[in-house]
Amino acid sequence: MCIGSPVGALWQYVAMSTNITHMTSSAKPQERTLAYLADIPVDRVKGVGTVSMKRLASEGVESVADLLLTVPRRYLDRSQLADLATAPLDEVVTVGGSVTSFNKRRISRGRTMVEARVSDGTGSVRCVWFNPYMKLEVGEEVALSGEIEAYRGSLQMKSPAVDRLSRLGASTTGRVLPVYPTLGGMKPNAVREAAANALRRSLPVVDIVPKETLERFDLAQRSAALSKIHDPESLSDVVPGRRRLIFDEFLRIQMALKVRAYDEFESQAGVENSVKGELFHRFIDAFPHDLTTAQSRVLDQLLGDMEDRTPMHRLLQGEVGSGKTVVVILALLTSVESGHQGAFMAPTEVLATQHYLGTELSLMEAGMAPAQSDVGLQGTASLFAEEPLSTRPVRIGLFTGSRVTTNFVVGDVSRSQGLDWLKDGTIDIAFGTQALIQEDVAFHSLGIAVVDEQHRFGVEQRVVMRDKNQGGGVPDLLLMTATPIPRTLAMTLYGDLKMSVIDEMPPGRSATRTEMVPDAADDEIDAMISSAVASGRQVFVVCPLVEDSEKIEARSALTEFGRIRSALPGLRSELLHGQMRSEDKAAVMARFRDADIDVLVTTTVIEVGIDVQNATLMVIRSADRFGLSQLHQLRGRVGRGIHGGMCLLSSDATTPDGERRIEAMVGSTDGFELAEIDLDIRGQGTIFGGSQSGAADLRLGDILRDADLLEAASSVATEAVLTDPGGRFVSDVMHEVAVLFGDSAQWLTRS
Ligand code: ADP
Ligand code: MG
Repeated sequence: MCIGSPVGALWQYVAMSTNITHMTSSAKPQERTLAYLADIPVDRVKGVGTVSMKRLASEGVESVADLLLTVPRRYLDRSQLADLATAPLDEVVTVGGSVTSFNKRRISRGRTMVEARVSDGTGSVRCVWFNPYMKLEVGEEVALSGEIEAYRGSLQMKSPAVDRLSRLGASTTGRVLPVYPTLGGMKPNAVREAAANALRRSLPVVDIVPKETLERFDLAQRSAALSKIHDPESLSDVVPGRRRLIFDEFLRIQMALKVRAYDEFESQAGVENSVKGELFHRFIDAFPHDLTTAQSRVLDQLLGDMEDRTPMHRLLQGEVGSGKTVVVILALLTSVESGHQGAFMAPTEVLATQHYLGTELSLMEAGMAPAQSDVGLQGTASLFAEEPLSTRPVRIGLFTGSRVTTNFVVGDVSRSQGLDWLKDGTIDIAFGTQALIQEDVAFHSLGIAVVDEQHRFGVEQRVVMRDKNQGGGVPDLLLMTATPIPRTLAMTLYGDLKMSVIDEMPPGRSATRTEMVPDAADDEIDAMISSAVASGRQVFVVCPLVEDSEKIEARSALTEFGRIRSALPGLRSELLHGQMRSEDKAAVMARFRDADIDVLVTTTVIEVGIDVQNATLMVIRSADRFGLSQLHQLRGRVGRGIHGGMCLLSSDATTPDGERRIEAMVGSTDGFELAEIDLDIRGQGTIFGGSQSGAADLRLGDILRDADLLEAASSVATEAVLTDPGGRFVSDVMHEVAVLFGDSAQWLTRS
């Protein structure tokens, strides 16, 4: 974090102030912010002793603020209780009444049956539980939720959920009872009592969000929201209460992201990349197609950012084949033409090499690189002389863990030679893996860094990339991904980045047709494979497992390979999987690329970066075993050439989610649409789980369901940081971030 900026200074302030405030009787009500309440240990609340404090702490509830932000699981509206005499049978209802009898007895196999009778004046019901710890007092008031069934002429409920109304203390006077979760062994009723006491002690809580903002988005005041959550007058209070708390969760994350972007980028002096000159035009003129509308739009966004003195910090999304590369090369050339260098980092050696070779070729086609025959014939001295860019070739280099090579000297060079050429500016554009951000790497004047498949790189690597510039100024940073990310997810994970999306495929490509067949339809599948190969095409067969497994019932690559070899003996089939040695893998891949193999039986190892245009059929066995985005990535391996593509999903999907995934695949080829469905199926928890971002701190908010609140929070945070980054509102929210996120706020401060 840069301490020189106003927000950097804020962090010092936060660090100093978080542990100096304590609740004292002299505290004025107007000082009670949520951040302040986060400093009061939860055992100051009436009803929370040493034991319950430990229990609460085990669930992360350590302060009064934590307790206030612990929301009920559900609410019981006592005006909505059904009468036993008229309650419908066999559907979930809630009834209330008093316990008239209670007993426990041993039944077969050492189990205990608990039996109670509950009457509400209109009738009575027999309740049974098989939980030996269940205990009720005769005479106490309870609410029971569950299904009522007719049993031997009377009513019965099996294992209904019970709320013991008489134990609820003062708060039972309201019609609506909040039902809390059990926290670390602390009973729901005890939690309810503690929350009620905490609320009474804390109100009124100062609202840090300006009134106009609350009005604009129709949000409740903070005090009102907390009352509606913990002490609602009617069920209709609950939703607005929750919405305000959810808005606050999103606001904290969005503010933290925007502040980070401000500190790392927006407040920094950048590198000006502004000459859109000869190289740019020669390259675009030599490109054999017109840019699509989406490509032009994104190019304009990039060039606009690059021209700006503020360093670019942008995420470029576009599916495989959407034409990201040409746009990125134009951006890199623009930087070279402005007197700087460009860097392009990819996650694997294969991909870095592919980008390097592709760029070398297109530069040659545009007449901007030494023709192969010239390389090495020139004396190196003349290459390094100050020659205008219009007459000298664009010099590019490849840096991986195993080699360094360039387009202006024959063969590989030593790493130290390559590094010297980066340092003295000889190399205009460097391609590479993480080898490009090792400690010993420095650029003469880095103008732009492009990072491909950015989700594999963490915050730290982004920052290293930023700091590689000897020439001064923060280089423009462009992150790229071919994995479509739903908008709300992108806002949450990458809210500190601006977004560009190439959402349109170049013309002349027909969408890959997708069909589902039963898993047993080997004959039908084999016929499709034969006919594809007969017309000169190649086929992928993808399996979820390498070898058969006792635990998982699914096709394995080994078994399927054996099956296809004997069922289709005339075809050249081969096996490729992740447990093979890398030389063997590379050899098989090369033969497939050269069309020496007809059918490649494989696993998800082929997911990334394989481009074989002659492959037109993809068969995915046990397809329900794959995630939706994985299926979509796999399917992207076919239909890349002029021959179109076909995808066969073989599956006997049994789970509803599995069926939904297959249905979605058959119904859509739009990666963004599929990504949304995937998010909906999996839920945000699995995506944020373990991720190093504030998103993991979302407790109430759901980025799909509450998308409107996320959008609101994002625009409020953007506006605040833009107009008054050192102001009261930003610092109040960041103070909350620091005290409420605690240790997990390190993801923010690490840089
Ligand atoms: P990405 O990097 O997004 O996967 P590429 O840039 O590699 O996609 O483009 C995929 C293919 O589409 C390449 O063969 C490229 O030449 C071609 N291509 C790119 N832009 C266009 C366009 N505007 N019109 C036609 N073909 C294009
Ligand atoms: Mg710039």
